[in-house]
Amino acid sequence: SELEKEYNLSKSFDKSAEDQYKGTNFPWYSKVENVLKDTFKLKEFRPMQLAAINATLSKKDLLLLMPTGGGKSLCYQLPALVGHGMTLVVSPLLSLIEDQQIGLKKLGIHSRSINSSTSKENKKLVNDYLSKGTKPAIKLLYVTPEWLSKSKLFKSYLQKCHGLGNLERIAIDEVHCCSQWGHDFRPDYQFLSLLKDMFHDVPIIGLTATATLSVLFDVQNMLNIKGCLILRTSFNRPNLFYQVVPKPQQNQESITYLENLIKNDFKGQSGIIYALSIKDTEELSESLRNRGIKARPYHANLEPELRRKVHEKWLNDEYQVVVATVAFGMGIDKPDVRFVIHHSLPKSMESLYQESGRAGRDGKRSRCIVMYRFNDYFRGSAIINSKTEEKKLRSVLEYCLDSSTCRRKLIATHFDEKWEQKECDRMCDNCKEESTIVWYNITSVCKYIYSIIDKAQTQEVNLTLLKLLDIWYKGGDKNLRVENLSMPKVERQHAEIIVAYLLMKGYLMDYKSYTAYATNCYIQKGRDCYLTENTVIEMPISSSINLRGLLKRSSSGDESDSKVIKID
Ligand code: ADP
Ligand code: MG
Ligand code: ZN
Repeated sequence: SELEKEYNLSKSFDKSAEDQYKGTNFPWYSKVENVLKDTFKLKEFRPMQLAAINATLSKKDLLLLMPTGGGKSLCYQLPALVGHGMTLVVSPLLSLIEDQQIGLKKLGIHSRSINSSTSKENKKLVNDYLSKGTKPAIKLLYVTPEWLSKSKLFKSYLQKCHGLGNLERIAIDEVHCCSQWGHDFRPDYQFLSLLKDMFHDVPIIGLTATATLSVLFDVQNMLNIKGCLILRTSFNRPNLFYQVVPKPQQNQESITYLENLIKNDFKGQSGIIYALSIKDTEELSESLRNRGIKARPYHANLEPELRRKVHEKWLNDEYQVVVATVAFGMGIDKPDVRFVIHHSLPKSMESLYQESGRAGRDGKRSRCIVMYRFNDYFRGSAIINSKTEEKKLRSVLEYCLDSSTCRRKLIATHFDEKWEQKECDRMCDNCKEESTIVWYNITSVCKYIYSIIDKAQTQEVNLTLLKLLDIWYKGGDKNLRVENLSMPKVERQHAEIIVAYLLMKGYLMDYKSYTAYATNCYIQKGRDCYLTENTVIEMPISSSINLRGLLKRSSSGDESDSKVIKID
């Protein structure tokens, strides 16, 4: 239950645990310091790194939560060089493993990996060390979860390694992949649950940038490390400016908007645009190229060779913009990305945070823009197929619709982090504009929409958002128009905001209809919503938007104040 979750996690979040481990009075401290400076060539630790290192060297099971780019890898790479034995690193992708190994090699650190594409000789080297302790000793061994779950032989060697006292620690990178609640669930991560059974005295360190309570709880359960220590740094990235902008209805206008941004605000600067589909990335990057911008698409269908080339040229600033699907993700480590633009809604708050987080790793001011259009919600909704994913997409919709709450607060709240308003320092659109909230009575609008839906239903017509609005504004099918109610005097662009709000609050719902070729999303009345005579639906709207023609509640009045004033 929720309560149990809270209780167990609160034990894990024991603040004193962090204080307990961040000190320099551990027996291995001088060695830790030497390795940091001499081997990793770094001057000092970043927040929470030393605490994590001390905790895992103290053989504690640990989940380490740090935003992308925070420096999680060091927290298992460094301890691996302090102890006598081997650290097994589980990492979700071969490309991530390769990147890490290249980095380690540059520092003169010897690591190995084993997977289906490892050569026979190298497999033998690894297996000899694991089963017999043959020199040279391996300090860091990288595997994918697939390999761990598939290869019985590997597991048996690992057991021998443990028997020889050489298995010192297990690091699980991107550990949120264990959880269905995470944004990157990977079925093979489930097999990691056997690790604690096989090696109950070997400490586990799980690392992730995702940190909602449900994910953490799930991960602890999955790995059999309930109640383990959790260390986390703040998720705030103070140098990122978060904003949501309306996405123009016309595609060409959208391109023009992007062109202006990229040629003026971000002239000569590097960035990423995330798009919904492979087709979108191709079309969008071509349109941008036609306007003289060095943009290239990046997605899973590109030949690996071409994909690497795009990544590399972007790293070297030969391409200014990568227009990508979410396939352009984990392991991207360019320090001077000045902008990340979501061309359509990200699929969850986690994705929003993670993908935006690829901007400004060097600490300099960078912008994270979501281009929002209500219709994209339906496009996104059409390609998902679980309640969980639906819930996640809704929270993004909520984020976009909120035109008054600090964006950082919305993000922090999502990650169950406490948030002080002042910490944003006007680094988001809502804080910068200081708009206030006006409550509008939208009951009549809701009733109007309901009568359109009723009429459509009697004629067995499915209503898309577009169709609904067309009928509302007396276009579309004549037979579906509602004649007995007068049309609410709201501009069409605002009508969209109201429909979105009603959907979010459950007064409306979307449902899918499948054909062999496509999934379509339609609008319906909310399942449990009955409007009675006395129902009043009110909606908070930013003072920057004026819903002329609707009833407005005085903003000084409290919730119970039923006084409404008519404006215009
Ligand atoms: P994460 O896995 O948390 O996203 P990484 O481990 O990939 O982050 O580290 C991101 C970058 O930060 C890397 O380039 C790394 O070398 C650098 N880094 C890590 N720790 C430190 C430190 N203490 N001082 C300076 N740079 C660091
Ligand atoms: Mg990492
Ligand atoms: Zn703010």
